[in-house]
Amino acid sequence: MTTIAAPAKPDLAALRRDVRAFLADELASGGFAPRCDSWLSGFDVGFSHRLAERSWLAMTWPEEYGGHGRSQLERYAVNEELLAAGAPVAAHWIGDRQVGPALLKNGSVEQRQRFLPRMARGDLLFAIGMSEPDSGSDLASVRSTARRVEDGWRVNGTKVWTSHAQRSDFLLALVRTEARTTSRHDGLSQLIIDLRADGVSVNPIAMLDGEQHFNEVVLDDVFVPDRDVLGAVGDGWRQVTHELAHERSGPERFLSTYPLIEATISGAARADDPIAGILLARLITLRQMSRDVGDQLQAGHTPAVEAAVVKDMGTRFEGDSLEMVRSLLGREPDPTATDLCGRLLAEAIQHAPVFTLRGGTSEVLRGIIARSVVGR
Ligand SMILES: Cc1cc2nc3c(=O)[nH]c(=O)nc-3n(C[C@H](O)[C@H](O)[C@H](O)COP(=O)(O)OP(=O)(O)OC[C@H]3O[C@@H](n4cnc5c(N)ncnc54)[C@H](O)[C@@H]3O)c2cc1C
Repeated sequence: MTTIAAPAKPDLAALRRDVRAFLADELASGGFAPRCDSWLSGFDVGFSHRLAERSWLAMTWPEEYGGHGRSQLERYAVNEELLAAGAPVAAHWIGDRQVGPALLKNGSVEQRQRFLPRMARGDLLFAIGMSEPDSGSDLASVRSTARRVEDGWRVNGTKVWTSHAQRSDFLLALVRTEARTTSRHDGLSQLIIDLRADGVSVNPIAMLDGEQHFNEVVLDDVFVPDRDVLGAVGDGWRQVTHELAHERSGPERFLSTYPLIEATISGAARADDPIAGILLARLITLRQMSRDVGDQLQAGHTPAVEAAVVKDMGTRFEGDSLEMVRSLLGREPDPTATDLCGRLLAEAIQHAPVFTLRGGTSEVLRGIIARSVVGR
């Protein structure tokens, strides 16, 4: 009788050891300084390249497109280690998290071949153009339009809060390609826009701490060739809904403040404080929920409601964690602090207002959850 060997289980412990050893070397050589919210603010293309050299970008993408054919679980483990260490992963984060999967799900073979291998090397960066000045929560109301012309589209409109557009190569934009439709969710499409094309202006917007990470992107009669429509014309709403499930459910939705939590608990030797126990219990729960959504995404489902729950609870945890850390440390935030805990506390407090906004506000997420319960 022939026996078929079960597929080998990934050795996650060994993988985590490798990532930790890499991070320790990076820290020792000054490759990065840990920071809170590093997936948004830690922008370092060189660091992304170093991860790519170790095959830690595009981990789950097929090898034919420059990926490494690894499991979601392995990708999750690597990302958890990077976020927990406060490593600068922002340059590749959006591409790796959602644009790559969107290209794999909806892109043409030509698009996959053109974009994915360069993204997997950390050589090509994407920004996301969903929000507009009057369309954030109510995304279906986007007013950027694409007009049909020979061989492509002419795009006009303004996107806002576009993270890292000033440093990226392409924008994956949601635009209206059909003016009058019976449902407002129809007539929307996703276009891949070259951020260096004629008619594109990127205007940085300063954050509370003076950093410039997000932007206004003005599109003035920008030509987009037919080959850069992602998926089917008019199918943009369904496509972004799936993308948002990726955007809302990952470990970055509850680990933005983790470097501060760890520095506080280890530095002040307060691991036995009940507050530390509460922090840990909530983290473990969120992690399990987030991993379950990841499993569903891998199985090809669109767990939009479950992802909304992870994001709402995760970002609430991030906010609460700051209050708990403050009480453990017994000090107030000081932007001039130079010690690790003090610096991370001030940094996190200044970033805290964005935790519950980006990727969908808490009120809107709770609306999605409530509607799913009422609709049962
Ligand atoms: C740091 C950061 C980075 C971002 N990066 C990007 C990016 O890269 N690409 C991109 O496309 N967007 C990005 N965004 C935009 C983000 O997705 C929007 O800010 C978010 O969706 C909210 O939209 P809005 O700002 O227009 O607020 P609004 O939609 O105007 O909401 C204002 C307030 O009204 C409440 N509200 C609105 N509708 C309802 C409702 N139906 N029920 C109850 N309350 C409601 C909201 O909860 C909120 O408190 C980013 C935002 C931030 C803060």
